Amino acid sequence: MMAQYLEIKAQHADALLFYRMGDFYEMFFDDAVAAAAALDIALTKRGRHLGEDIAMCGVPVHSAEGYLLTLIRKGFRVAIAEQMEDPAEAKKRGSKSVVKRDVVRLVTPGTLTEESLLEARRHNFLAAFAQVRDEGALAWVDISTGEFRVMPCPPLRLGPELARLAPREVLLSESAPATASDTVTEMGAAATPLSRGSFDSSSAEKRLCALYGVGSLDAFGSFARCELSAMGAIVDYLDLTQRGKLPLLQPPLREMADRLVQIDAATRRNLEITQSLTGGREGSLLHAIDRTVTAAGGRLLERRLSSPSRDLRDIANRLAAVRFLVEQRGLCEDLRADLRKAPDMDRALSRLALDRGGPRDLAAIRNGLAQAARVAARLQDDAPALLTGAATALQGHDALYAHLETALVAEPPLLLRDGGAIASGYDGELDEARHLRDEGRGVIAGMQAEYVQATGINSLKIKHNNVLGYFIETTATHAERMLAPPLNETFIHRQTTANQVRFTTLPLSEIETRILNAGAQVQELEKRLFESLRAAVLDQAARIAQAARALAEIDLAAALADLACAEDWTEPKVDDSRAFHVIGGRHPVVERALRRQGQPFVANDCDLSAGDSAAIWLLTGPNMAGKSTFLRQNALIALLAQAGSFVPAQEAHIGLVSQLFSRVGAADDLARGRSTFMVEMVETAAILNQADDRALVILDEIGRGTATYDGLSIAWATLEHLHDVNRCRALFATHYHEMTALAGKLAGVDNATVSVREWEGDVIFLHEVRKGAADRSYGVQVARLAGLPASVVNRARVVLEALEQGEREGGRRPKALIDDLPLFAASAAHVEQRAPKTSAVEDRLAAVMPDELTPKQALALVYELRDLL
Ligand code: ADP
Repeated sequence: MMAQYLEIKAQHADALLFYRMGDFYEMFFDDAVAAAAALDIALTKRGRHLGEDIAMCGVPVHSAEGYLLTLIRKGFRVAIAEQMEDPAEAKKRGSKSVVKRDVVRLVTPGTLTEESLLEARRHNFLAAFAQVRDEGALAWVDISTGEFRVMPCPPLRLGPELARLAPREVLLSESAPATASDTVTEMGAAATPLSRGSFDSSSAEKRLCALYGVGSLDAFGSFARCELSAMGAIVDYLDLTQRGKLPLLQPPLREMADRLVQIDAATRRNLEITQSLTGGREGSLLHAIDRTVTAAGGRLLERRLSSPSRDLRDIANRLAAVRFLVEQRGLCEDLRADLRKAPDMDRALSRLALDRGGPRDLAAIRNGLAQAARVAARLQDDAPALLTGAATALQGHDALYAHLETALVAEPPLLLRDGGAIASGYDGELDEARHLRDEGRGVIAGMQAEYVQATGINSLKIKHNNVLGYFIETTATHAERMLAPPLNETFIHRQTTANQVRFTTLPLSEIETRILNAGAQVQELEKRLFESLRAAVLDQAARIAQAARALAEIDLAAALADLACAEDWTEPKVDDSRAFHVIGGRHPVVERALRRQGQPFVANDCDLSAGDSAAIWLLTGPNMAGKSTFLRQNALIALLAQAGSFVPAQEAHIGLVSQLFSRVGAADDLARGRSTFMVEMVETAAILNQADDRALVILDEIGRGTATYDGLSIAWATLEHLHDVNRCRALFATHYHEMTALAGKLAGVDNATVSVREWEGDVIFLHEVRKGAADRSYGVQVARLAGLPASVVNRARVVLEALEQGEREGGRRPKALIDDLPLFAASAAHVEQRAPKTSAVEDRLAAVMPDELTPKQALALVYELRDLL
């Protein structure tokens, strides 16, 4: 057995080997050590190999899925070796013979299909990146839904595209440069190297033709060499991991990068589109607005938010569908009620295709088709094209539905072998087998009555024991009659005990075998019927997948309509202009968070409408005033509009945005081992090099990560570049008040500020954005609000005032000023944390130790105090 184990293991060196032994998957050697640690299960020993104990651990087959999930999450790959024959079979070959085993599947992060291993509302993409000279292509597939896409992808775009798709696993050629696999790992996916052969574009074409059963791929479009190579690698890998059982893949579709808004990884992170900065879903835009009622609808929403469109027709179609459902509230409600009952047909279908499906997957298709018909019936011809188009895809499944409806019970068991999946009345043979199995006792009772009548012996009984099986029993006195003709022709003597005599009959032993076999036969028949139902479903797979997509599309439109009504969102006007005009805009996530605290969100306008020139707002204002919120809300409004959703505003006019960029000064990025300032500059460089005149750029406190004058100069030059060269629409928040002077010099730059009011030395944030420059930054007041010790706050006030005074008096260098300032008075430390507000003079006086002053110092102090007034 160990020889067999080692032979299989040698072929799967990079995976943990689950080696099936009876009811367990066992692991040995290093695999066992690694798995025991990862799963927190007991490590034991079994036998010896080359003089050493063999480490071993195991997991029960029936609960293997949970363990698999843990291992996959921890970055392992698992090869599953099953027993390929009955152990009895092996025995026949000789007592030493080992049961045949083989790997039936490689479980990897990108190839999961099990309900329990997948997140219902997330796609589970497997991607492949191929490079031929300077050209690159990215292909990706969700084997749990069958979606298969490809796009040209120059090596530089790999990072942004992976950030958009967030695949679990990315296949790379072993000859790919190390930078590619670094990019993959940085994006949080597993990088799986494959041989160059897997990426060979000529064999790729053959593989794809074979997969779709076509002579040439022309019907699907014409693909570049590297696109073929990437798609071929995926098919090859699926073949490898699924061991020849290929999932149902839809024909490959080419996605064109120039039809989508380009958003890079940093912008996605920063705008918290599908994930919050802390990594979870909570706090993201997706989480805040997701009102879909089906898992497939949820996945579609995630896709739309991750890749908003640049195609005006698509956007208009999507918006029209949402508008229609906003206007038809009742219909929208009814559709959502139907959709709530629609199961995840995509995933059920893919499990059935991979032969990993069970009766519940058939039921999911049946229930899904039933809801599809209901949804379609609600959509009349007056609905917009997107909805009527979807309704067409939902129709015409009646025959399959009726078939499944008669064949399956209402709620079938999870596993086929649990029995009872097929409804009675569907198959005569099955009904009979079940009748025999279930009604066995009744049949025997009937027989007993028959024999009582035939023999006239009222005490005759049919009984059962493990030795004889079923038998007829009478007392010794009555037995004589049965042992004599003519009854002895029917009753065959089996056994005589002290008081009883036992018989059998031909019909009884026949019925006995039939009852015993009935159970097995029921199982056999159910399996056969399940298979034929599965075939019937797979026969219609493409059309079912279309219906599933149509349901997701309707779910999404209805969810967005529901959201728009509940949150008072409005339909944006999206056109080919370079306008960007939002009236009464809000940040959907911040607004929700504030509402929970019972606070209102202050809506704000933004007008970046650009004619031929750039249109930039330079936003100043104290920290905490709401600058970042304002910046992001405008980016999100553009993103939502182009995703085809209504937007959180009173009015919005968005000229098509081609690229969305968002940067925050000095974000921590220690994980990548670069200094924060370096990261900030690399990201800013990317914007300045890439943004075109249709880009929307958001820069928040650029330059913050370095010394004041450096930072100011960089921010200054960046703004000029955006204005003169990129000529884009931009929001630029800064705390360098000096920059507000630029508005006078650059035609496309306007000053704006978030207002605050000062009241008894405190700041009150009004969160109102208005034209004009901020007068001060109120940093000290904000620090006080944050609970900085009073002594520090007071000291900061003193320093600030001295600095400001120096500036007023004609640019005395801060260094000289600071030298002049009295030392920080340690005695201030005992000032109460929240002492009443004191003036600079009071602060200075409090710091004085009169006993230590010479008369001359005392006089100097008087002058100093005068100056502080
Ligand atoms: P800044 O970038 O100016 O430091 P933020 O945008 O981070 O400020 O906002 C600080 C806090 O102010 C937010 O967490 C939010 O609670 C609140 N806030 C921001 N904008 C608004 C608004 N328009 N209405 C109400 N509260 C707001």
